[in-house]
Amino acid sequence: MPQLSRRAFAGALPLGLIGGSLLGGGLLGDSLARAATQDAAKPPVVVNPFAQIRIGRFTVTALTDGYADMPYDYFPGRTGAEVEQAAISQFTARQTGVRFLFNQYLVEDGERRILIDAGAAGSIGQTGQLPDALNALGLQPDKIDAVIVTHMHQDHMGGLVLGGKNNYPEADLYIDRRDVTHWTDPAKRNGAPDYLQTSFRMAEEVVRLYPRLQAIDGEREIMRGVSIVDLTGHTPGHIGVRIEDGGKSMIMVSDMIFPVVHPAATDVFFLFEQDRAAAKAMRDRFFPRAASEGALIAATHMPFPGLGRVVADHGEMRWQVADWALQD
Ligand SMILES: [Zn+2]
Repeated sequence: MPQLSRRAFAGALPLGLIGGSLLGGGLLGDSLARAATQDAAKPPVVVNPFAQIRIGRFTVTALTDGYADMPYDYFPGRTGAEVEQAAISQFTARQTGVRFLFNQYLVEDGERRILIDAGAAGSIGQTGQLPDALNALGLQPDKIDAVIVTHMHQDHMGGLVLGGKNNYPEADLYIDRRDVTHWTDPAKRNGAPDYLQTSFRMAEEVVRLYPRLQAIDGEREIMRGVSIVDLTGHTPGHIGVRIEDGGKSMIMVSDMIFPVVHPAATDVFFLFEQDRAAAKAMRDRFFPRAASEGALIAATHMPFPGLGRVVADHGEMRWQVADWALQD
């Protein structure tokens, strides 16, 4: 990872921007500075961004349920200090850690609406905005025909259940069978750390409330142009979704790639990954292939709308943000 010391970082900035001296000093004056402080105390206006791209006959809309900051020491394989340095060098450092977005993708072809992932729904960080985002598109949850959940971590399936009820009553639900088996296994649950218990609890609830759950065995087409890709590693049944039509394609890779640490390295993990060898193998396979194919990628936790490509740059893999508007 690129190294950049905090002192070098501060030294590179114009003098007036260091330590908040623009606000506190003479430039704005004391009363204005006080007003700015009072404004900061008000709850922020919630914005529901969405971005749309065309993939052949499909419209893909990126939505977001919100965000959470992951402490720098949540990335086994690197020290917290190393991850923080990487964030500083990418100008994304926050005191609270690495910001994870929670992006979902709505796929429409005029006949069917498929939602990929359902968000954390308030179970972590500043989340729970997906229903408002759908509402902004004029959609209630009962207008969704199918939900594909890429794996059974709480930040991907939380929104399936609202107030103890099935929140997508008209939807077929697709989840890989290996994840359904893993996350409903009492023995696995008993042996799991505290931070995974919410996912185990939610998985049991989802299975109970979704009689239309279809456990997926291997790669298959859900409808013409929408197919499941096996990306086992992050969890046993971690899957991606390929959208393909009219010579264009996009692959939603879920937790294949995390901000700040990927795709530059594959030996750095996220705390929730229970089988690190499998997670590393997944990324070792995928990053070079994605780079050589120039695949358009959608990734849950990358900065909104999570669209980009893995590119090989002088022997190092990096994330290249893709156009997400006015791209035709
Ligand atoms: Zn995730």
